[in-house]
Amino acid sequence: MIVDAHTHIHAEKNGMGPGHDASLAALLTHLETGSIDKAVILAEAVDVPYIKRIENEFVAACCREHPERLIGFASVHPDESGAVARFEDAVRRDGLRGLKLHPRFQGVAANDPRIVPLVEKAAELGVPVMVDTLLWKPAPLRLQAPILVDDLCKRVPEAKVILAHAGGFHFMDALAVVVANDNAYLETSVSLMYFKGTPFESQFMFALKQAGARRLIYGSDYPQKPMHETFENSRALFRQYGFTDEDMAWFFGKTLLSLLSTMSSGCE
Ligand SMILES: [Zn+2]
Repeated sequence: MIVDAHTHIHAEKNGMGPGHDASLAALLTHLETGSIDKAVILAEAVDVPYIKRIENEFVAACCREHPERLIGFASVHPDESGAVARFEDAVRRDGLRGLKLHPRFQGVAANDPRIVPLVEKAAELGVPVMVDTLLWKPAPLRLQAPILVDDLCKRVPEAKVILAHAGGFHFMDALAVVVANDNAYLETSVSLMYFKGTPFESQFMFALKQAGARRLIYGSDYPQKPMHETFENSRALFRQYGFTDEDMAWFFGKTLLSLLSTMSSGCE
């Protein structure tokens, strides 16, 4: 079972910016024609210049139509009134299976007390929390620092916390968070391909190796990144750096699926 744990689709074809087909139909076509069995589609509870808000209800409806292909993660802004209840509804009522938090878009750091109730709820529901750690535009970088995820992992030790993009420019800090916290995981979208072929490639791969395959989760960030090319290039790099078939099985699916299987019953 190969899972791409980081993709987006949008109710509007151009919702992920011009030049990207963000439609459900395009994603399904990619899944039909390649090696990826399932995709995690992520809601985004925020409007930024290059991504329009992706509603939980839209994500849930797509997952209901294609349960064999799609796994949905909810997103809420910590400042929304009733954010915790909205998130709980998205999981219990609508069948979403994780929470995406976005310090870079939402301007709320991973160690901000405002997100703790959401992460506690995720832990109670038995679903993982994915936190963006790319270090890019538009929020101040100090709010995005992957090291801040350490505070979150310690404050809610029952939560499973995925560092999306594996820390980006600060990938060694992301590794430190994973070494220091048994409940932290690295998801490699964007960063793995960004560092491939650069002087940092071997350092990035060192960080992944040290984390260990059971703490690694594969993602592409489709449609802004190509689904199949990212998969083939990631697999080639993992082979090149000596990851075993067993390691690859964890990275390309088992790690993520193991986090979903802890979900409390009645949430399918
Ligand atoms: Zn993304």
